[in-house]
Amino acid sequence: MADILIIEDDRRISDLVYRTLAMTGHQGFPVFTGREALSALERNRIDLVLLDIGLPDMDGFQLLQQISREFAGVPVICVTARDEISDRVKGLRGGAEDYIVKPFAMEELLARIQVALRRFHKEQSVFCFRDVEVDLAGGAVKKGNDLVELTNREYELLKVLLLNKNIALSRERLLDLAWGMDFYGDGRTVDVHIRRLRQKLGLEKEIRTIFKYGYRLEV
Ligand code: CA
Repeated sequence: MADILIIEDDRRISDLVYRTLAMTGHQGFPVFTGREALSALERNRIDLVLLDIGLPDMDGFQLLQQISREFAGVPVICVTARDEISDRVKGLRGGAEDYIVKPFAMEELLARIQVALRRFHKEQSVFCFRDVEVDLAGGAVKKGNDLVELTNREYELLKVLLLNKNIALSRERLLDLAWGMDFYGDGRTVDVHIRRLRQKLGLEKEIRTIFKYGYRLEV
Protein backbone atom coordinates (compact mmCIF):
# COMPACT_ATOMS: atom_id res chain seq x y z
CA MET A 1 0.00 0.00 0.00
CA ALA A 2 1.65 3.21 -1.16
CA ASP A 3 0.67 6.84 -1.69
CA ILE A 4 1.13 7.49 -5.39
CA LEU A 5 0.97 10.87 -7.12
CA ILE A 6 -0.63 10.58 -10.56
CA ILE A 7 0.50 13.51 -12.70
CA GLU A 8 -1.59 13.13 -15.85
CA ASP A 9 -3.65 15.68 -17.74
CA ASP A 10 -5.68 13.11 -19.67
CA ARG A 11 -8.59 12.52 -17.30
CA ARG A 12 -9.54 9.17 -18.75
CA ILE A 13 -6.07 7.76 -18.19
CA SER A 14 -5.89 9.43 -14.80
CA ASP A 15 -9.22 7.90 -13.71
CA LEU A 16 -8.25 4.47 -14.96
CA VAL A 17 -4.91 4.56 -13.15
CA TYR A 18 -6.57 5.90 -10.00
CA ARG A 19 -9.16 3.13 -9.96
CA THR A 20 -6.59 0.43 -10.70
CA LEU A 21 -4.41 1.65 -7.84
CA ALA A 22 -7.41 1.74 -5.51
CA MET A 23 -8.33 -1.84 -6.37
CA THR A 24 -4.82 -3.03 -5.60
CA GLY A 25 -4.70 -1.24 -2.26
CA HIS A 26 -2.78 1.92 -3.21
CA GLN A 27 -3.88 5.48 -2.60
CA GLY A 28 -3.70 7.62 -5.73
CA PHE A 29 -3.46 11.43 -5.70
CA PRO A 30 -4.50 12.68 -9.15
CA VAL A 31 -3.19 16.05 -10.30
CA PHE A 32 -3.48 17.51 -13.78
CA THR A 33 -0.71 20.08 -14.05
CA GLY A 34 2.90 20.47 -13.03
CA ARG A 35 2.05 23.22 -10.58
CA GLU A 36 -0.53 21.04 -8.81
CA ALA A 37 2.03 18.25 -8.73
CA LEU A 38 4.61 20.35 -6.89
CA SER A 39 2.15 21.59 -4.33
CA ALA A 40 0.80 18.04 -3.77
CA LEU A 41 4.36 16.84 -3.18
CA GLU A 42 4.85 19.55 -0.59
CA ARG A 43 1.62 18.78 1.24
CA ASN A 44 1.60 14.96 1.21
CA ARG A 45 3.95 12.15 2.03
CA ILE A 46 4.20 10.64 -1.43
CA ASP A 47 5.89 7.25 -1.95
CA LEU A 48 6.04 7.25 -5.73
CA VAL A 49 5.30 9.59 -8.65
CA LEU A 50 3.79 8.68 -12.01
CA LEU A 51 4.74 11.53 -14.32
CA ASP A 52 3.17 12.12 -17.72
CA ILE A 53 5.85 13.86 -19.75
CA GLY A 54 3.38 15.80 -21.91
CA LEU A 55 1.80 18.30 -19.51
CA PRO A 56 -0.10 21.49 -20.35
CA ASP A 57 1.78 23.96 -18.17
CA MET A 58 5.30 22.65 -17.83
CA ASP A 59 7.91 20.65 -19.67
CA GLY A 60 7.77 17.17 -18.16
CA PHE A 61 11.54 16.77 -18.19
CA GLN A 62 12.04 20.02 -16.31
CA LEU A 63 9.44 18.94 -13.78
CA LEU A 64 11.23 15.61 -13.45
CA GLN A 65 14.49 17.39 -12.67
CA GLN A 66 12.80 19.62 -10.15
CA ILE A 67 11.15 16.67 -8.41
CA SER A 68 14.39 14.71 -8.21
CA ARG A 69 16.16 17.78 -6.84
CA GLU A 70 13.58 18.89 -4.30
CA PHE A 71 12.03 15.55 -3.39
CA ALA A 72 15.02 13.25 -3.60
CA GLY A 73 14.19 9.73 -2.50
CA VAL A 74 10.78 9.69 -4.16
CA PRO A 75 10.97 7.39 -7.18
CA VAL A 76 9.48 8.71 -10.42
CA ILE A 77 8.10 6.55 -13.21
CA CYS A 78 7.75 8.53 -16.41
CA VAL A 79 4.73 7.86 -18.55
CA THR A 80 5.30 8.97 -22.09
CA ALA A 81 3.70 8.87 -25.49
CA ARG A 82 7.02 9.63 -27.08
CA ASP A 83 8.64 6.31 -27.49
CA GLU A 84 11.84 7.46 -29.15
CA ILE A 85 14.81 5.97 -27.43
CA SER A 86 16.51 9.35 -27.03
CA ASP A 87 13.63 10.62 -24.95
CA ARG A 88 13.70 7.52 -22.82
CA VAL A 89 17.38 7.94 -22.11
CA LYS A 90 16.88 11.62 -21.42
CA GLY A 91 14.13 10.72 -18.95
CA LEU A 92 16.26 8.24 -17.08
CA ARG A 93 19.24 10.59 -16.95
CA GLY A 94 16.96 13.27 -15.59
CA GLY A 95 16.35 11.20 -12.50
CA ALA A 96 13.50 8.89 -13.44
CA GLU A 97 13.48 5.46 -11.91
CA ASP A 98 11.71 3.88 -14.85
CA TYR A 99 9.51 4.75 -17.78
CA ILE A 100 6.49 3.28 -19.45
CA VAL A 101 5.21 4.07 -22.93
CA LYS A 102 1.56 4.76 -23.70
CA PRO A 103 -0.59 2.86 -24.32
CA PHE A 104 0.32 0.44 -21.56
CA ALA A 105 -1.36 -2.49 -19.84
CA MET A 106 -2.33 -1.86 -16.23
CA GLU A 107 -0.59 -5.06 -15.13
CA GLU A 108 2.64 -3.73 -16.60
CA LEU A 109 2.25 -0.44 -14.77
CA LEU A 110 1.53 -2.25 -11.49
CA ALA A 111 4.57 -4.48 -11.96
CA ARG A 112 6.83 -1.46 -12.53
CA ILE A 113 5.37 0.33 -9.54
CA GLN A 114 6.07 -2.74 -7.42
CA VAL A 115 9.68 -2.93 -8.60
CA ALA A 116 10.28 0.77 -7.92
CA LEU A 117 8.67 0.58 -4.47
CA ARG A 118 10.78 -2.45 -3.63
CA ARG A 119 13.96 -0.71 -4.71
CA PHE A 120 13.11 2.20 -2.48
CA HIS A 121 11.94 -0.05 0.36
CA LYS A 122 8.47 1.37 0.22
CA GLU A 123 6.59 -1.71 -0.83
CA GLN A 124 4.19 -3.67 1.20
CA SER A 125 5.78 -7.08 1.35
CA VAL A 126 3.44 -9.01 3.65
CA PHE A 127 -0.09 -9.68 2.50
CA CYS A 128 -2.67 -11.22 4.83
CA PHE A 129 -6.11 -12.38 3.88
CA ARG A 130 -8.28 -14.84 5.72
CA ASP A 131 -5.79 -17.17 7.43
CA VAL A 132 -3.23 -16.90 4.65
CA GLU A 133 -0.07 -14.82 4.99
CA VAL A 134 2.30 -14.23 2.08
CA ASP A 135 5.67 -12.63 2.66
CA LEU A 136 6.91 -11.53 -0.74
CA ALA A 137 10.26 -10.39 0.61
CA GLY A 138 11.04 -13.71 2.25
CA GLY A 139 9.09 -15.86 -0.18
CA ALA A 140 7.21 -17.62 2.61
CA VAL A 141 3.55 -18.59 2.48
CA LYS A 142 1.67 -19.56 5.62
CA LYS A 143 -1.81 -20.84 6.27
CA GLY A 144 -2.60 -20.38 9.92
CA ASN A 145 0.66 -21.27 11.60
CA ASP A 146 1.74 -23.76 8.98
CA LEU A 147 4.14 -23.09 6.16
CA VAL A 148 2.63 -24.01 2.80
CA GLU A 149 4.90 -25.67 0.28
CA LEU A 150 4.37 -24.15 -3.14
CA THR A 151 6.23 -24.98 -6.32
CA ASN A 152 8.07 -22.06 -7.93
CA ARG A 153 5.35 -21.71 -10.51
CA GLU A 154 2.53 -21.79 -8.00
CA TYR A 155 4.34 -19.12 -6.01
CA GLU A 156 4.86 -16.92 -9.10
CA LEU A 157 1.20 -17.29 -9.98
CA LEU A 158 0.12 -16.37 -6.44
CA LYS A 159 2.40 -13.33 -6.56
CA VAL A 160 0.89 -12.14 -9.84
CA LEU A 161 -2.63 -12.59 -8.46
CA LEU A 162 -1.70 -10.69 -5.29
CA LEU A 163 -0.04 -7.77 -7.03
CA ASN A 164 -3.07 -7.47 -9.30
CA LYS A 165 -5.65 -8.25 -6.67
CA ASN A 166 -9.27 -7.48 -7.53
CA ILE A 167 -8.34 -7.23 -11.20
CA ALA A 168 -9.47 -9.91 -13.65
CA LEU A 169 -6.53 -11.44 -15.50
CA SER A 170 -6.98 -13.52 -18.63
CA ARG A 171 -5.32 -16.91 -18.86
CA GLU A 172 -2.97 -15.50 -21.50
CA ARG A 173 -1.91 -12.64 -19.23
CA LEU A 174 -1.34 -15.04 -16.36
CA LEU A 175 0.83 -17.19 -18.60
CA ASP A 176 2.83 -14.14 -19.67
CA LEU A 177 3.24 -12.80 -16.18
CA ALA A 178 3.84 -15.98 -14.20
CA TRP A 179 5.50 -18.21 -16.78
CA GLY A 180 7.17 -15.67 -19.05
CA MET A 181 6.60 -14.60 -22.62
CA ASP A 182 8.52 -17.47 -24.17
CA PHE A 183 6.61 -20.23 -22.45
CA TYR A 184 4.40 -22.21 -24.77
CA GLY A 185 1.52 -23.43 -22.71
CA ASP A 186 -2.21 -23.13 -22.93
CA GLY A 187 -4.93 -22.00 -20.59
CA ARG A 188 -5.19 -25.48 -19.10
CA THR A 189 -1.74 -25.10 -17.55
CA VAL A 190 -3.09 -22.08 -15.69
CA ASP A 191 -6.24 -23.95 -14.64
CA VAL A 192 -4.23 -26.80 -13.15
CA HIS A 193 -2.03 -24.46 -11.12
CA ILE A 194 -4.98 -22.39 -9.96
CA ARG A 195 -6.70 -25.54 -8.75
CA ARG A 196 -3.63 -26.51 -6.70
CA LEU A 197 -3.28 -23.01 -5.27
CA ARG A 198 -6.92 -23.00 -4.23
CA GLN A 199 -6.55 -26.38 -2.53
CA LYS A 200 -3.29 -25.62 -0.77
CA LEU A 201 -4.41 -22.24 0.50
CA GLY A 202 -8.11 -22.92 0.97
CA LEU A 203 -8.97 -19.97 -1.27
CA GLU A 204 -11.69 -21.62 -3.34
CA LYS A 205 -13.91 -18.56 -3.15
CA GLU A 206 -11.28 -15.82 -3.16
CA ILE A 207 -9.62 -16.98 -6.37
CA ARG A 208 -12.64 -16.40 -8.59
CA THR A 209 -13.09 -17.93 -12.01
CA ILE A 210 -14.09 -15.35 -14.60
CA PHE A 211 -16.19 -17.26 -17.10
CA LYS A 212 -14.45 -17.78 -20.45
CA TYR A 213 -11.70 -15.37 -19.44
CA GLY A 214 -9.47 -16.12 -16.49
CA TYR A 215 -9.16 -15.46 -12.79
CA ARG A 216 -9.27 -12.77 -10.16
CA LEU A 217 -8.09 -12.77 -6.56
CA GLU A 218 -10.75 -11.02 -4.50
CA VAL A 219 -9.47 -9.55 -1.30
CA1 CA B 1 -0.48 14.45 -21.42
